[in-house]
Order: sequence, then structure tokens, then C-alpha cells
Amino acid sequence: MADRVCLVHYHEIGLKGKNRSIFERQLITNLKRALKGRSAHVERLAGYVRVSFEDGGMPEDIPGMVAAVPGVARVSVAWRCARDPEEYNAAAIESLRACKGCESFKVHGRRSNTDYPIHSIDLNRQVGAALCEAFPDLRVQMHQPDVTVNVHVVQSDVYVYADAASQRGAGGLPVGTAGKVITLLSSGFDSPVATWMVGRRGAICVPVHFSGRPMTSDESEWLTQDIVRALEPAGIIGRLYVVPFGECQREISLKAPQALRVIMYRRLMFEVAQRVAELEGAKALVTGESLGQVASQTLENITATNDVATIPVFRPLIGTDKIEIIDRAQKIGTYDISAQTAPDCCTLFMPRRPETHANLRMVREAWETFDHEAMVEYLMKNIEYVDFNACASYRPPRELRARHRELAPAERSGEAENVAAKGEESANE
Ligand code: ATP
Ligand code: MG
Repeated sequence: MADRVCLVHYHEIGLKGKNRSIFERQLITNLKRALKGRSAHVERLAGYVRVSFEDGGMPEDIPGMVAAVPGVARVSVAWRCARDPEEYNAAAIESLRACKGCESFKVHGRRSNTDYPIHSIDLNRQVGAALCEAFPDLRVQMHQPDVTVNVHVVQSDVYVYADAASQRGAGGLPVGTAGKVITLLSSGFDSPVATWMVGRRGAICVPVHFSGRPMTSDESEWLTQDIVRALEPAGIIGRLYVVPFGECQREISLKAPQALRVIMYRRLMFEVAQRVAELEGAKALVTGESLGQVASQTLENITATNDVATIPVFRPLIGTDKIEIIDRAQKIGTYDISAQTAPDCCTLFMPRRPETHANLRMVREAWETFDHEAMVEYLMKNIEYVDFNACASYRPPRELRARHRELAPAERSGEAENVAAKGEESANE
């Protein structure tokens, strides 16, 4: 019998004119990374990418791994047959047999190589006749059949699959074709989704997480690492930066007007993220903000934070509802991690009544009540990072000394939690 292969369909890449081959090459590189260690062959094949194995089999988990890679519109598990009617008819019968419970079908024959003497209309008739004979109870239906059996002649082979053997892919464009962005990643629901969305458009995402440490435990850092690992199959993240932010928050909470604290924290986050962007050669920031979701996300407060931005700030979730965000978080595998709560810098030194409609003049005045420039320097000096082998095209910057920090669960000390408790006490003062 014929071999099993995955046919990877891409949609948007197919629309690219002269640059198409750059996108195709990047998709192949990314698929190879996603399937690393599985000895799969990944090759370009007239309008598809084909994934196959030496032994002609297709392990069950492979189509799902392929589907998670941005740029993949659809994955079909197909039979690869010779140009031999007996062989591809048999594959069509197998394909239809696997579609339990269907009542109607049609055949969709196509030729990418016109040197094959059987025209696609005749291909439809020929395979259709074999299927009618094998399944006399099934109806042939041209319009909206339960199953379409695809028979596609490509180069020297014929690929056969029922559309039920296809699954949707992540869509979008291959990571590495849209530059690099810095994403502000908390352990909440929103920012992992925002990160995935920008990654799906082809950007390499370098997340920066602000931890409340040393005023809180490092719990949020662990969750953030888990989020990065959950996003690993998509191959969008190279490195996670962690900024111990607690000390600066404490200082801000002592000096700046209480109602404007959150905006001060956010402005400082943006300043640090921009410095990381400079280091990394990233050209934009990404946040998980959604209009009106919380006090800091009103139009005025977004404006007040954005005031320090010198590069574009993307907010892919700005118009989405929480239900849609949660739905996406479940699909990309970050929901269960984000559902765990951990004290991070967001829970630290929160004002009792945060300003919801900040006045920009007052915000700028508050910004000058502490030495924000020195804080940025201090935070950049103390920045840490964890590397992940997730993104095929990520190249780390040379400037940063290797301060790879391997955190072990045992390091979550009771002492840190005590400090966290103290931090909360003073926050409530
Ligand atoms: P999320 O929005 O990710 O669910 P959240 O709801 O706790 O987290 P918000 O108050 O909504 O955080 O913050 C708005 C955005 O600011 C986040 O989406 C994220 O991009 C950024 N942000 C907030 N807290 C942090 C943090 N600790 N580290 C990095 N970025 C953060
Ligand atoms: Mg949020």
C-alpha cells in the first residue's frame, strides 16, 4: 500500500508574489525545528510542503505538531501513490472508509502536472466509479457532500485524502518573516494570547516579564516560563527576560501620588522594554491590553502610558472580549497556567483607588517625582533571562553577558513569601 504523508497547505504565503520563496523557505525551516528529533523529511512540493517518514508511516502526533506552526493553513494526512489507477483508487476507498457515518461524497481530482494523460474530469469519473462500486449505499453529491475525496496529481505522485483527514493550522505567516517584537508578558490570560497573535503574523517574540521580586515570591516567573513552554510548539519565542521590579515599585509607591502609581509602573515597564528592544533589535512593543478591561486600560490611561513610547506599541487584543481571549488561551494551551494566580508586580503596592482617567500633565509631573532614568539603568543592570529552544530564527544579542539563570522549584523559598506578605501589608497602608 502507498505511504502516508502530511500535506501542508499554506494560504497567505501563496498570495505573496516575488517573495514567496522566502516565506516558503522560512516555513520549512520552522517545520523542521518543530519536528526536530523525529527524523521527518520536510520538503517543498509545488504549492505544498510535504512531511514524510522513511518508513512510510505517519505517527499520530505529527499532524497536530505541524498544525501549530504559524504559516500552516491546513494539514492533510494523505496517501502518496504512484500514478497507477489501481493504487490511487484503493487509497481513495481507504480514505472514504475512514469517514464513518457519511452518506454522500464527491471526488475532487486535480493535476499540477499536465503531462499526466488523464484529465481531472476523467480522474473524477474514474475514482468516483471505483468508490461507487466499493460503497453502493453512498450517494454522489456535487453540492455540499459529507466528504470530498481529493485526488491530486503532483509531479510523479498522486496524493489522496478525504477532507475529513485535514485539520486547520495556526494560519498567519512563518515566524521570522516579520522582524522581532518585545512582548510584555505577565502570567495573566491576555498577554500570552497577544504574544501568540503577533507571533502568528510572523514576528519573533521576545517576552519581558516584570516580577515583584524581591517583594514577592518568584511564582509569577515560574508561571511565565511555563507559558513560554506552552507556546513552544508554535516556535515563536527565543528568550524570556525577567526584570525584578519590586524595589522600584516600592520606591515609586513612596514618592508618586497613590492614584497614579499603576501608570508610573507601566511607564517604567515601557522604558525598560524599549531598552531591551534596542538590545535585541526589536522594532515594536506588544501588550495584552484590551480597551476598558481594567482601570489602567481606559483611553486616557493608555495615552498616559504610551506617552513614553518611542517605538510602536501593538495591542492585538484591544477590541476583544475576555471570553474570546479565554477561548484562544484554551486553544493555544496557556489557559491552565494563567488560571493559577501568583503575586507579581501587578498585585504589589496597588493603590486603593487607581486613577481611571489620568490627566497627562499630572502624569508627567508625577513621573518627575522619582529618578526614573536611574531606575531604568538599575533594572537593565539586574535584568535576567532564560533561553528556550523555541524559535528557529532567534539570534540572541551579543551585548548581554551570559547570566543564564536556571531556576529550580526548590528555590521558591518561604522567606520570599514572607517578604511578599510584608510587601502586601505596606501596599495596604
Ligand atoms: P494579562 O493582561 O497578561 O492578562 P494582567 O491582566 O494581570 O495580565 P493587566 O493589568 O491587564 O495585566 O496589564 C496590561 C498589560 O500590561 C498586560 O497585558 C501585559 O502586556 C502588561 N503587563 C502587566 N503586568 C505585567 C508584568 N508583570 N510583566 C510584563 N508585562 C506586564
Ligand atoms: Mg489584562
